[in-house]
Amino acid sequence: MRHIGEAIEAGASADELAGLPIPTSYRGAHIRRDEVEMFDGVASEEKDPRKSLHVGEVPTPELAPDEAYVAVMASSINFNTVWTSIFEPLPTFGFLDRLSRESSWGARHALDHHVVGSDASGVVLRVGSAVRSFGPGDRVCIHCNYVDDQDPSAHDDSMLAANQRIWGFETNFGGLAELAVVKANQLMPKPAHLTWEEAAVNALCASTAYRMLVGEHAARMKQGDVVLVWGATGGLGGYACQLVLNGGGIPVGVVSSPDKVDLLHELGVEHVIDRKAADYRFWSDDESQDESEWRRFGKDIRDLVGDDPEIVFEHPGRQTMGASVFVAKRAGTIVTCAATSGYMIEYDNRHLWMKLKRIISSHFANYHEAWEMNRLIDRGAVHPIVSAVYRLDEVGEAAYQVHHNLHEGKLAVLCLAGREGLGVTDPARRERIGEERLTLFRRHAGTATA
Ligand code: NDP
Repeated sequence: MRHIGEAIEAGASADELAGLPIPTSYRGAHIRRDEVEMFDGVASEEKDPRKSLHVGEVPTPELAPDEAYVAVMASSINFNTVWTSIFEPLPTFGFLDRLSRESSWGARHALDHHVVGSDASGVVLRVGSAVRSFGPGDRVCIHCNYVDDQDPSAHDDSMLAANQRIWGFETNFGGLAELAVVKANQLMPKPAHLTWEEAAVNALCASTAYRMLVGEHAARMKQGDVVLVWGATGGLGGYACQLVLNGGGIPVGVVSSPDKVDLLHELGVEHVIDRKAADYRFWSDDESQDESEWRRFGKDIRDLVGDDPEIVFEHPGRQTMGASVFVAKRAGTIVTCAATSGYMIEYDNRHLWMKLKRIISSHFANYHEAWEMNRLIDRGAVHPIVSAVYRLDEVGEAAYQVHHNLHEGKLAVLCLAGREGLGVTDPARRERIGEERLTLFRRHAGTATA
């Protein structure tokens, strides 16, 4: 694949790229079926992605009529890569086996290796015979909603499709590799002002935050809403804060260090809570929660913004859900898409029903929502939040950083891109939007190149 990457960087035309043979194998980050028991008996925090994620040659699968081969220039680490690599809550080979039973094309996915990764930027090399809207040479970003468009349940909101999957997590041939196999309806135009690595990190987290806050299926934030954002400098939170600011809301960011407080202020978030400094003890022990601590948290929010949050942007799960339900305003919305700290949730239902609050679930985004989010990034209304860039062979280390909450924003991974900073085709737009805004998280982490 390297010569394909070099041809792309040298500006090869669409015809030239279409004429290059597709190699029979490519380098990809993968886990192995024969290793799913390697962490049995080990505590979650001790399960080490550096041991389970391998980078090596894997065979190129055949292309289905509705698919594209994409030369991956860059990708990113998502928390689902952490889940896959520590085999929690389940080994992902079960997902691949289930997909294999659906069709002969699905059967390609059930292999003894799982190539992971649910984000990518790159260039289309080939498309199947049924693909109409993209072709070889197109520079693209990939979103991870993988649906069968012949299933009627996929045609209202495709996130409601009975067999909806997340590419690179519940399917094989993911983005942390030199080559990806995706459905044509996962492709979106790459914003021309971004580098490969900046373009690679947005689709999964930004589109998830978009659906949770902006799209018609979840909280539907309006101007003036106070939005409490947990993990406000993390992957989801970094985009959530930008969407709240962009939509005229008032974000209250929760983070866990003074450094992250500074970063949020630079991002334009005025109201920030350092949860470590405040030392909230929502759980007094494994069994019981302390309402006086919820109350203290609520008071801290009121002291900052003078009001309770109309919306709580939830994803830590067990550790925070009780507090989230408590602090939401009367008739407010708690929108949740995850449970990093545990999925068996407890909250006091009296605070929910007596104050007519609602909990809404959300999961990734449909193609339309992902496209709208990509458009906001393309127009420079929301920016990538890359804080560090890794090489493909360092993917285990990058996943380790995310597993242990040692990162900010998003960690990008260079796949075919030879170095950082490549891929910008509209430098004038980049200059107009401003290098400072595009590289805020990178500069803050102290890892920006000049
Ligand atoms: P990150 O690790 O980038 O960010 C999560 C943030 O949450 C951290 O920065 C941390 O911030 C905060 N956090 C972690 N643990 C706790 C805790 N116990 N209490 C309070 N805050 C906590 O992850 P992402 O934002 O990318 O993803 C977050 C979760 O959402 C993951 O579980 C992921 O799998 C899931 N997810 C689900 C999606 C979906 O479609 N359903 C899509 C994307 C992600 P700090 O320490 O500064 O407070």
